[in-house]
Amino acid sequence: MSAANKTAAGRPPGTPPIVLLRGICKYFPGVVANQSIDLEVLSGEIHALLGENGAGKSTLMNILTGIYQPDAGEIIVDGYAKAFASPVEAIAAGIGMVHQHFKLVMPFTVAENILLANRSSAYRSGIREIRAAIKKQSDELGFALDPDRRVHTLSVAQQQQVEIVKVLVGGAKILILDEPTAVLTDAEAEQLLATVQRLARAGTTVVLITHKLNEVKRYADSVTIMRRGKTVATVDPSTTTAAELTQLTVGETQTLPARAQGEATGTRLNVGAQFFNVLNHPNFAQPISDISSPLFGLIDGTVSTPTSIFGNGLGGDASPRIIQLKGTFQF
Ligand code: ADP
Ligand code: MG
Repeated sequence: MSAANKTAAGRPPGTPPIVLLRGICKYFPGVVANQSIDLEVLSGEIHALLGENGAGKSTLMNILTGIYQPDAGEIIVDGYAKAFASPVEAIAAGIGMVHQHFKLVMPFTVAENILLANRSSAYRSGIREIRAAIKKQSDELGFALDPDRRVHTLSVAQQQQVEIVKVLVGGAKILILDEPTAVLTDAEAEQLLATVQRLARAGTTVVLITHKLNEVKRYADSVTIMRRGKTVATVDPSTTTAAELTQLTVGETQTLPARAQGEATGTRLNVGAQFFNVLNHPNFAQPISDISSPLFGLIDGTVSTPTSIFGNGLGGDASPRIIQLKGTFQF
């Protein structure tokens, strides 16, 4: 899928990246959030940033959008070195971000929110112009947003649409989405990502922060994996298996403790969304093909989501059985 999409994005080979980050470092007290990060994002692609919680993804993008200033490193946008003192400067350079926690004024209308965020732009003359711009942008994306609705009356998915329209009306050519599907239902997530893909095919560059492999596999043209403040690799999701992406994301996987035959009281394990290689575990001796499989009857606890199970034999992938577990488990 990726190769065809890249052609559709109309980018000749050798085109320089629209965003180039070189040697970016960011330190918080006692924390190295970003350590010598290099990143290349090509024009018109969906570039996923994949990594576990705390890997440094949001920090890196907050640097690109002027919320944080890097302690070291260079930001080059479309060939020019940039230093953004604020998000206003980043948006003026065509870079906008939709944050995990929306930055909307709830009692205000959609139009008032978008005007507020773009008051230093061409729309400063008034609400009428911004209303028309919202209508146009929203229709193009298939969002059907009413500029006069108060934001607190909108669903979370619609509030996210307001955030996206806000950034695009502000002139963003590079759209950064921080874990956009975390607050959506599966159906809403599908719809959003399909829309984002259309947007990218029409020329917008998208950075999609996520920790969901299925999103990377289905929608990203390339993916950079971050781990503990560093970039691990940039790969083509269409030629990289889910198991390989998992391995890159988490580094060494842990092996579940094997249960002794006939043992009455099993091992109790507290797990906070970690990845385990269950290849050699007797409880997982058969292929994992279904979340509701009797296999999981052995576990006292909940397995996070079906999408967290990799190497399950579906889609011809017979590679290691790496699963993500969250909760308390009895073996
Ligand atoms: P991710 O988005 O990949 O989950 P973050 O970029 O949010 O990761 O965080 C990277 C690291 O930096 C984490 O250890 C986090 O606790 C820390 N961090 C992020 N923002 C701040 C901040 N404003 N002050 C202190 N530490 C922070
Ligand atoms: Mg984050």
